[in-house]
Amino acid sequence: MGERTFSPINYLRPGLRFPFCPGCGLYALSDAFLRAVFELGYDDFRRFCFVSGIGCSSWIPSPYYLADSVHTLHGRSIPVATSIKLLKPELHVVVFGGDGDIVGIGMGHFIHAARRNTDILVIMGNNMIYGMTGGQVAPTTPLKTRTTTTPYGSFEHPLDAARLAAMAGANYSARWTTAHSKELKECFKKALQMDGFRFVEVVTQCPTAYGRRAGFKDIGEMLRWFRKNAVLVAEAGKIGEEELEGKIVVGEFIHRRRLTLVESVYAVLKEAQKDV
Ligand code: SF4
Repeated sequence: MGERTFSPINYLRPGLRFPFCPGCGLYALSDAFLRAVFELGYDDFRRFCFVSGIGCSSWIPSPYYLADSVHTLHGRSIPVATSIKLLKPELHVVVFGGDGDIVGIGMGHFIHAARRNTDILVIMGNNMIYGMTGGQVAPTTPLKTRTTTTPYGSFEHPLDAARLAAMAGANYSARWTTAHSKELKECFKKALQMDGFRFVEVVTQCPTAYGRRAGFKDIGEMLRWFRKNAVLVAEAGKIGEEELEGKIVVGEFIHRRRLTLVESVYAVLKEAQKDV
């Protein structure tokens, strides 16, 4: 048998092209995910089902991946993914969404899915802004950043979604940036081989709605900023809160094995069927 070689074409619907702006980080995010799937030995998406809501990141799987996918309402991808996983536990159920979708309007679902340790992988492209709707401030926008709705700079502290997932009960939570493609691919591989709630936050460059307003000259400068400001989780613990202001803490926030939702639901079903 010949050696397998990676080609994204094997996973993409023929005749379609991603709708992202030139230089958008979502190309790199999708590439890292597809490479992870390939390296785990999957030549197609037969054993996968994708769910997404509304926003730029939500376009990644639907309709572009050659796979079963559900493109649902803004903020509602996690409950839809939960239903699919409970009915079809043999599938890898993967949610793609942006920060506005997952931890803005979808925040309640996010916390409860982590608390239940729901067996889905949630991949959040964090572009630190509402990109598709014109660059409004988001829960993840860094303090003092200029956006269309905060022309004098954001006056709110940004949300730490990866830490929140870990604290709420996820089996796995990690954050990387699009400037860490190798680490990101390995992180996807690890998450895809686990059960329970897995969350991967990917800080991604949005040159159109974020970069130019936040004062970045070009994409290269954004990627260098990601690298320069990235602090590993283990190091962040030794640094004071003030010093961490404006940094991007990367790495794994949690990696553990707790009873998952599928395991507990199916154990109850088995027990209940004894009485039938
Ligand atoms: S608006 Fe930003 S996140 Fe959306 S496709 Fe364009 S660059 Fe990417």
